[in-house]
Amino acid sequence: MEEQAIITAPAANKYNLDEEQEKKEILRHYRALLRALRPKIKKGDKELVRRAFEIAADAHKTMRRKSGEPYIFHPISVAMICVEEIGLGVRSTICALLHDTVEDTDITLEDVEREFGHEISRIVDGLTKISNVIDTNTSQQAENFKKILLTLTDDPRVILIKLADRLHNMRTLDSMKREKQLKISSETIWVYAPLAHRMGLYNIKTELEDLAMKYMEPETYKDIAQKLAETKRERTRYINEFIRPVKDQLIKGGFDFEIYGRPKSIHSIWNKMKKKGVAFEEVYDLFAIRIILDSPQAKEKEDCWKVYSIITDEYTPSPERLRDWLSNPKSNGYEALHTTVMGPEGKWVEVQIRSRRMNEIAEKGLAAHYKYKEGNSDEDRFDKWFGQIREVLSTQDTDSVDFLQDFKISFLAEEIYVYTPKGDVKMLPVGSTALDFAFSIHSAIGVKCIGAKINHKLVSISHVLRSGDQVEIITSNKQKPNEDWLNFVVTAKAKSKIKDALKEVRRTIAEEGKYILQRKLEGIGAAFNQINIDTLVGFYKYNSQLDLFYQIAIKANELKELKEFNVLGDRLEQPKPQKPLHEVPAVESAPHHYNKKDSELIIFGESSDRIMYTLAKCCNPIPGDNVFGFVSTGKGLIIHRTSCPNAASLLANYGHRVVKTKWAKNKEISFLTGLKIIGMDDVGVINKITSIISGDLKINISAIAIESNEGLFEGSIKVFVYDKEELEELVSRLKQLNGIHSVDRFDVG
Ligand code: MN
Repeated sequence: MEEQAIITAPAANKYNLDEEQEKKEILRHYRALLRALRPKIKKGDKELVRRAFEIAADAHKTMRRKSGEPYIFHPISVAMICVEEIGLGVRSTICALLHDTVEDTDITLEDVEREFGHEISRIVDGLTKISNVIDTNTSQQAENFKKILLTLTDDPRVILIKLADRLHNMRTLDSMKREKQLKISSETIWVYAPLAHRMGLYNIKTELEDLAMKYMEPETYKDIAQKLAETKRERTRYINEFIRPVKDQLIKGGFDFEIYGRPKSIHSIWNKMKKKGVAFEEVYDLFAIRIILDSPQAKEKEDCWKVYSIITDEYTPSPERLRDWLSNPKSNGYEALHTTVMGPEGKWVEVQIRSRRMNEIAEKGLAAHYKYKEGNSDEDRFDKWFGQIREVLSTQDTDSVDFLQDFKISFLAEEIYVYTPKGDVKMLPVGSTALDFAFSIHSAIGVKCIGAKINHKLVSISHVLRSGDQVEIITSNKQKPNEDWLNFVVTAKAKSKIKDALKEVRRTIAEEGKYILQRKLEGIGAAFNQINIDTLVGFYKYNSQLDLFYQIAIKANELKELKEFNVLGDRLEQPKPQKPLHEVPAVESAPHHYNKKDSELIIFGESSDRIMYTLAKCCNPIPGDNVFGFVSTGKGLIIHRTSCPNAASLLANYGHRVVKTKWAKNKEISFLTGLKIIGMDDVGVINKITSIISGDLKINISAIAIESNEGLFEGSIKVFVYDKEELEELVSRLKQLNGIHSVDRFDVG
């Protein structure tokens, strides 16, 4: 972790303090740390912290930082950040003090374990870099990061201390060489700031970004900082003007609150300038108004909305810019209500409303989140997130650089919220597609996905989702993943599951190639054995026999050289004479007969079949359906399906008027019913459907409507059938067609 290179020569002390003074200074820092930690210290803790400090101070005693100061200042500062800015406790303080000892000094993990126990030694282990034989290597970097993540899922404190370490290094980056500054800054922007964001540490994230920008874009950074300073007075005046009426109303409403204007970070202003291609002067939201309420947890949501109402009474809100993270907190735990309103002089102003508790979570993220977790039955977001990371880590076999890229997109990107048809919320990274969603539900659903319905509209698997979408996945048993799919997904989970599935598909296809090869070899009198297979793999320069089989199966290799190769070189082995195998008599499987039930009779109660009846309009029964008769007043007997929406109430309330009913064979009358067919829009699929219906089965089509969209179609077809048997046969024939996802009956009203 120590990117701050270490100098072991005391001579580099540019402060020119004598040793005594230096020791005093170190002790002063240490005491400040203890003071900050005091509210959390229990009996016996003080001695442990003291012990950790002494061990670290002693281990680092000959080391200095690039700046020249004694090295021990760094671990003390990291511990201080952990306590004051992240809200961590005694155990984390000890780990922070020790975090560089195992890597850089003679102290071993065993020493730490003996002294402080297993819990602390594990965290320190997580904080220790994998021994870097080759430093500046990116995959080494990725490997180290992967290690942090593995530890993170055991104990999130590792990542929090790691972030504190990074923050202190960024704060003291001045004394480093320019290349180092750039390398460390870009790493910070790339991984650590997003990670801080994901952990809910907004202040740390913002500071990391600003510091990195200061080194990466020094000119722009200075420019924006200066302009912010120049416009400060005017901004303060405006903020006060904006706040005044709101404040009055809040006081009148009896709220206990804090209200202030807060400038946005330099980095975020710069982002806005780049994104919108505008100058500093044109960025309207240089600041946000924040209102923090002292509300009891049971009333905070209600109070936030009351405040929202007060503000929007005063200023007109922009309807598209209401962000309700009260009902749906972000997965990093962030809760608040954001709105953008039209302030004085027609300027848009963002207002953030949150309770004291929410504010603490926004600032201290994970640590605060755990503090408030007790008694909260809501499924823990971080645990869920860690679970997802764990799952991906356990299935990843790609190399680390790839992994890091995937990880970043899957777990550190901004998120969208989408809904299942049942209304469950799923969070996915921005850019996720219908296919990502399918895999996020289950990989078995992912591999069979042929499309989706987004807000009830049919879309293809590559459709990019947006927050608020309701997504229903459409699957087909005939679907198979292909290479293209890797371009349709962004989540690590989907990627690795698709790769697995592709391997499986390849293996299945290769089986075919294996048989072709066997036939060909036997055809030229050569043996189908491992030696010959290996010879051919070598001859064609494939990596494996799987490759050989696969290339043969897809006809990329037609083995044209095989005969010549064998004759010329006599290089393939002959088969060994074998005992004849027992002939296995071929068993033709009996043709599958469509099982027709012999006879069905109308039995209306026990009477004859001449009773007049009508078919209920609510459920349109056709012969073969499970039905019952209902004796109505005036209309005689009405036949309902037992699955009719009205059935339950009729059966329950008018049981005495219900008559047992069955169908007779009836080929004279046919009944209109509808089929909804969803599938892939294959060439000629509609033709195939109609030819089955009217050609093979001679069923009359009354109407047909097909809507197709990006490779998917949804057809609704109305047909006349004699009975349920006929309908069922039709459905089963249609389902056998390639690319058909579902065939469902619907009632023709
Ligand atoms: Mn460090």
